[in-house]
Amino acid sequence: MALPLCVSVADLASALSDPRFDALIIISAELSNFPHSDFQQAIRQAALIDQRIGKEPVMLQNTQAPGQRLILAPVGPLHRDFDDVRSFADAAKQAITLAKNAGARQPLVWVDSHDQPMLTKATEVVYLAMAQALWQPLEGREALGEDAIEPVALIGMIGVDEILATTLQAIETGKRLARDLCGTEPERMTPHRFADYCVEAFADGVVSVQVQTDVETLQQQYPLMMAVARSSLHVKRHKPAVVRLEYLPEGEVTQTLLFAGKGLVYDTGGADVKINGGMAGMSRDKGGAAAVAGFMKTVALLKPAGLKVIAEIGAVRNSIGSDAFVPDEIIRSHAGVRVRIGNTDAEGRLVLADLMSHLKIDAATAVNPTLFSVATLTGHAARAVGPYTALVENGAALQLGLSATLAQYGDIWGDRVKSPAVDVKILVSSSHVAAPMMC
Ligand SMILES: [Zn+2]
Repeated sequence: MALPLCVSVADLASALSDPRFDALIIISAELSNFPHSDFQQAIRQAALIDQRIGKEPVMLQNTQAPGQRLILAPVGPLHRDFDDVRSFADAAKQAITLAKNAGARQPLVWVDSHDQPMLTKATEVVYLAMAQALWQPLEGREALGEDAIEPVALIGMIGVDEILATTLQAIETGKRLARDLCGTEPERMTPHRFADYCVEAFADGVVSVQVQTDVETLQQQYPLMMAVARSSLHVKRHKPAVVRLEYLPEGEVTQTLLFAGKGLVYDTGGADVKINGGMAGMSRDKGGAAAVAGFMKTVALLKPAGLKVIAEIGAVRNSIGSDAFVPDEIIRSHAGVRVRIGNTDAEGRLVLADLMSHLKIDAATAVNPTLFSVATLTGHAARAVGPYTALVENGAALQLGLSATLAQYGDIWGDRVKSPAVDVKILVSSSHVAAPMMC
């Protein structure tokens, strides 16, 4: 069924008899908070014979619930110093998986509200977590059929208005595109097929797409990236592509965001080859490019006023072979800087530097520009901050407080980011540069 639609539901009473729904999911730290006395009574009675109630997700038969399915998903304690909105995401994922396995296709969801600042987005986090849990990899959908492995058609969210439902669905559509692009194996998502997927995703024309695949042009315009691509050029299907995405709002532009996305569709490490099994998973070295394309998809759906967004994605394969670039080579970048190669497995910065060099030219005449590079850039990010997105600022970004702002939003949306407490030299200097790294 593809993406589960986010359906706005005004109130509980009318939703309980709405034939669109076939299950009721209650997500709360305290199940007795559910505002319906008959259900409270049913939960109390069930708790007399089932000690799991209030401790783990369970399903009860209840004639007043849509489809007679009542799913109780306790969030657990929220008062400890390490509790946050991710407890709602965890409960939501377990509950929607239980609902799907039980045969529900159109569940109705009630989320207990909280006024603690960290929990104000609990309802939004629940929808996004459920959609994430329901998503199945592109290869699986193509092999088995979307209807078979993604059967849930919609999620009714009680208390969510139409505008918020539309916004959440736009966010999820972008995240879904990013997962499809990032999670796919290296032959399904070669550079050209990555570009094709973008062309298809933006076919409505709200975001313009330009794809450059001419090898000679790429060698002139993206010389560092093409050093990375060099040993892939003799295999036709592995040849690189640069994808440029652009959103121009109606009316006056007051702010411009520029993104460079690292799209290593496969990273063998090159001549500095990854050994001891370290290569497995390197088809996901295109996470930065995927995140940028996904963000652009959300922008295309929401059409924000005043905001112009430009993205450049370098889709390339770091192969190994007799024509591979090697350490000690000196290559002149698009910006004119002579770069000595130290390690061919540090290829992400080479791809990003040329993309950023092009975006800097755009930024020079843009209104209020901010540049970001987005990448699965280094295992050291994960060592420094753990399994979170790492944000690395230059001086200008620090002055703007970009990392602090992103971290605040990440906390309340259950998608935490961290800024390593180190003095970092950014590859590309510009008026406003930040470099979030997707780990
Ligand atoms: Zn690498």
